[in-house]
Amino acid sequence: MDYDVLVIGGGPGGYVAAIKASQLGLKSACVEFDSTKDNKVKLGGTCLNVGCIPSKSLLDSSYKFYQLKKELLVHGIKTGKASIDLDVMMHRKDQIIEKLTGGVGQLFKHNKVESIHGKGTLVDQHTVEVTNAKGKKKIYKSKNIILATGSRPTYIPSVPWNGSTIIGSYGALEFTEIPKRLAIIGGGVIGLELGSVWTRLGAEVKVFEAEETLLPMLDNDVLRVIQREFLNQGININLGAKVTGSKKSRNGVELTISVDGKEELQSFDKVVVAVGRKPFTENLLHKDCGLKTDENGFVEVNDFCQTKIKNIYAVGDIVRGPMLAHKAMEEGVMVAERIAGKKMEVNYNLVPSVIYTHPEIAWVGKTEKQAKQEGTIVKKGSFPFAASGRALASGDSVGLVKVVSDQDTDEVVGIQVFGPSASEILQQGLIGMEFSASSEDFGLTMFSHPTVSEALHEAALAVNKQAIHIGN
Ligand code: FAD
Ligand code: NAD
Repeated sequence: MDYDVLVIGGGPGGYVAAIKASQLGLKSACVEFDSTKDNKVKLGGTCLNVGCIPSKSLLDSSYKFYQLKKELLVHGIKTGKASIDLDVMMHRKDQIIEKLTGGVGQLFKHNKVESIHGKGTLVDQHTVEVTNAKGKKKIYKSKNIILATGSRPTYIPSVPWNGSTIIGSYGALEFTEIPKRLAIIGGGVIGLELGSVWTRLGAEVKVFEAEETLLPMLDNDVLRVIQREFLNQGININLGAKVTGSKKSRNGVELTISVDGKEELQSFDKVVVAVGRKPFTENLLHKDCGLKTDENGFVEVNDFCQTKIKNIYAVGDIVRGPMLAHKAMEEGVMVAERIAGKKMEVNYNLVPSVIYTHPEIAWVGKTEKQAKQEGTIVKKGSFPFAASGRALASGDSVGLVKVVSDQDTDEVVGIQVFGPSASEILQQGLIGMEFSASSEDFGLTMFSHPTVSEALHEAALAVNKQAIHIGN
């Protein structure tokens, strides 16, 4: 055998699994596409190259511009007319990608993970065939194999990508000029994040969401505040609006939009299709390898990411569960540890989600709505940032924290945050939840003053009607 562990795919699931396996004393390698131009691979997958990191880079740059234009005056700060140099903004983003993807290569070297360039195909229980960009094939043998080939965007047949006016999320990270009229099809995570970026930079953005409700995974009281704020920021979100057709127009694209059964035509310079992602398994499984994907394209695994062939595992976006980088990384660590004979598990009940709009939207565990649907009797407490001294001092006081706990045991079962540093506040709550903290435990914990995290403290106190800074 060439390796103890051979990973196909160098995204967050794959590269983390390969590094962890090496750290545990297993001889490991990772296969990732190479380029014909320079025989180089870009490690880091969707996350580092066209996902988490480039989108956050543009979200942060565009938010600084938005602050300069809209938020600094109340602090008494006056500047000249703010303007954008999009080339510089994009160059900065590209440099961050370069640094981080190169960093994964360095980590491979440091941890003695072999980097194999090419496209991997699982041939049988112990064999992977790798075809490099020049078409040359090579066979590798490994005791264990981890499939981590991630996902690709889905598209709508009636609005096919054309690479210029109709594009997917990757294209919307690469605009060379700010579109005047931008349509985003899909009011999910990408729709809201990239909708925020281009609205802040001056585009007239319309988001078309087929469902009647935005973000159905959240409670309605939280959602109402979110929708009001997006409206304030000028993001035009159209619910119950299904895009059913597209046609080239003089300056861009004419979309057919169906609302309440009535069709209307609207024109845009650019259209971004962001209607979800599907597992990427093209040419991954040889027809005789013993594994098949399910009807939705996912590789089937058990709770420990093991396929029906016991030495073959799959992690990240190609398996069930939310398509999130941190979930992929945790699965990568779990699989490496289990191959090394350890007993690690992933707690799938506590996978956090964050949408990096401003304010951020973050949640974990069960909502009040979901708990009720499942028949769990819960109590709840919330605290608005408008009553937080620190949020007011920094001029960032939109939103709230909501804590849901079990009626009998008081154990916190879910937290939702919409507000300043929501992702960081949620993470504090999540650590407590990992240790089965009750809302009383959060209430008895001392929080530094003045911090926006105090909103979590007060929301937890409010669960048992003990909040100090709002009426109970
Ligand atoms: P991927 O990251 O997709 O990596 C798979 C890798 O496998 C790719 O590099 C691919 O080239 C390679 N590969 C595929 N087939 C083969 C083959 N046959 N041989 C060799 N290599 C192969 N998640 C978050 O948690 N937070 C965020 O803020 C966030 N933002 C996002 C923003 C955008 C715009 C997008 C599109 C996604 C975002 N995500 C975010 C999702 C996140 O990027 C994915 O969940 C994560 O990258 C999945 O990791 P993975 O390792 O399973 O797959
Ligand atoms: P999504 O599933 O979040 O949202 C897609 C939306 O498109 C849904 O609300 C759906 O109802 C809507 N839709 C589907 N067909 C439609 C149609 N014909 N017309 C109008 N609306 C339609 O998917 P996404 O936004 O493409 O993101 C893909 C995945 O990438 C996410 O689910 C997430 O896992 C990951 N991601 C995560 C982050 C993050 O963690 N911050 C950021 C971006 C992407």
